[in-house]
Amino acid sequence: MIENSDFFKTVLDSLPEQIVVLDRQGEIVFCNQYWNTFAEQNGSEITDWVGLNYLDVCNTSGRNGDKMGQDVSKGIYSVLHGEEPTFYYEYPCHSPTEKRWFMLRVVMFHFQNADFLLLTHHNITERKRSEDLARSLSRTDALTQIANRRYFNTFLKTEWRRCRRSQTPFTLAMVDIDHFKLLNDTYGHQKGDDVLVEFSAVLSDFCRRPGDLCARYGGEEFALIWTDIEHTEAVKLAEELLIQIERLQIVNEHSPTKPILTTSIGLVSLHPQGMNELEILAKADELLYEAKQQGRNRLVAHKLN
Ligand code: GH3
Ligand code: MG
Ligand code: MG
Repeated sequence: MIENSDFFKTVLDSLPEQIVVLDRQGEIVFCNQYWNTFAEQNGSEITDWVGLNYLDVCNTSGRNGDKMGQDVSKGIYSVLHGEEPTFYYEYPCHSPTEKRWFMLRVVMFHFQNADFLLLTHHNITERKRSEDLARSLSRTDALTQIANRRYFNTFLKTEWRRCRRSQTPFTLAMVDIDHFKLLNDTYGHQKGDDVLVEFSAVLSDFCRRPGDLCARYGGEEFALIWTDIEHTEAVKLAEELLIQIERLQIVNEHSPTKPILTTSIGLVSLHPQGMNELEILAKADELLYEAKQQGRNRLVAHKLN
């Protein structure tokens, strides 16, 4: 039975992967059943793929500026010219109802003195989803669902560099809840946790643009980054933040500052040049300490240049 070529064709047709074979010129000499089914389900009107030139299609879309077309034809040529044994390429191919990703794999084989390219398209959506989830979990604080300190550090570095390149103003604020230990001691740790969640939601409302971030820096201390706004605007935002926190009217009856939840902020704005981001972090921390020293529930802000 296995000497019968129909047997092998049936095997290939049974695979839930799109398979296509090209000759050295890039012309399709074979495609399996799943290739046809997939193309049909995705709105293709082509019913007979054999004889079409796959490489020409990639080259044309590449010439029209399509990056995927450029990458794929470059990869296929690298296998064709023996520069690479295999070419792997991950790409999105979303349907109107579902986000999907695929991996293209290209290898060369020889049959009866001729070279052929075997292209398989494998659905990797599940893996991509797991990777996205893992990435998001690794960046998020489990309690408050805002960014964690690890992601804050990465974001700080990249935004700092971007602002330095584009000479854009940069603001960093360190925000620390006042007398939070008293709140925990009075109402219990669970209440403290709930307050941290509520507090973080207010911070998030103040960080909605792509160059903004609020993160849980540790315990009841948070860090904010605002870019593309001048110092005076940043000060206004931070003052508004202090008001919004008071408006939550979360009782902290033993707090010597006020019998409700308050917070202190150390804020520094500058055009990034001549300093590094760690010095700015230290400066904002210093200003936060001053805010605490001056009686809490306040902003101490400084414009550096
Ligand atoms: P200050 O105004 O000087 O900042 O006083 P504070 O009490 O806020 O600061 P302190 O550093 O003395 O205490 C911080 C408290 O925050 C102590 C710690 O138990 C509490 N805390 C840190 N992380 C968590 C958390 O995840 N959940 C709860 N409920 N409490 C936390
Ligand atoms: Mg505190
Ligand atoms: Mg603290």
